[in-house]
Amino acid sequence: MCIFCMIAEGQIPSHKIYEDDVCVAFLDLSQANIGHTLVVPKKHFSNILELDNDIAGHLFTVTSKLAKAISKAFNVNDFNILNNCGEVAGQTVHHFHIHIIPRKLNDNIKIEFSSNKLTDEEFINVKNAIIEQL
Ligand code: 5GP
Ligand code: ZN
Repeated sequence: MCIFCMIAEGQIPSHKIYEDDVCVAFLDLSQANIGHTLVVPKKHFSNILELDNDIAGHLFTVTSKLAKAISKAFNVNDFNILNNCGEVAGQTVHHFHIHIIPRKLNDNIKIEFSSNKLTDEEFINVKNAIIEQL
């Protein structure tokens, strides 16, 4: 059984801040900033590609509610809400989870995107490639 399954079942202790039938949320062991929280489905899904769409919706509803609570608790209005999917993207625990990371001015967290310039034709091809799979 994976570590987040064990936390969800209470076999491993965690600082839980929320629980319902579908998910739990607890403080990340490595607090990137104070209040860093993980929202985790009770059922095991390795990543977003495996995740049930209805559960995804519920997890985001809970994420939204918790971000507002964390905002009030620590007087922060800036957050990164993120999910790492796959090892290349930095996923280390292979049980789907959403990070809620409060941000402070000049904290040392680096989340950067490089930029690719596409032509209009390339944008259209990218758009169509995705739409065809929906
Ligand atoms: P990932 O890199 O997969 O997106 O994030 C995994 C996160 O889980 C990391 O931020 C790490 O600190 C956290 N984590 C790993 N093991 C435990 C644990 O046993 N308890 C808690 N609360 N967090 C954990
Ligand atoms: Zn699991």
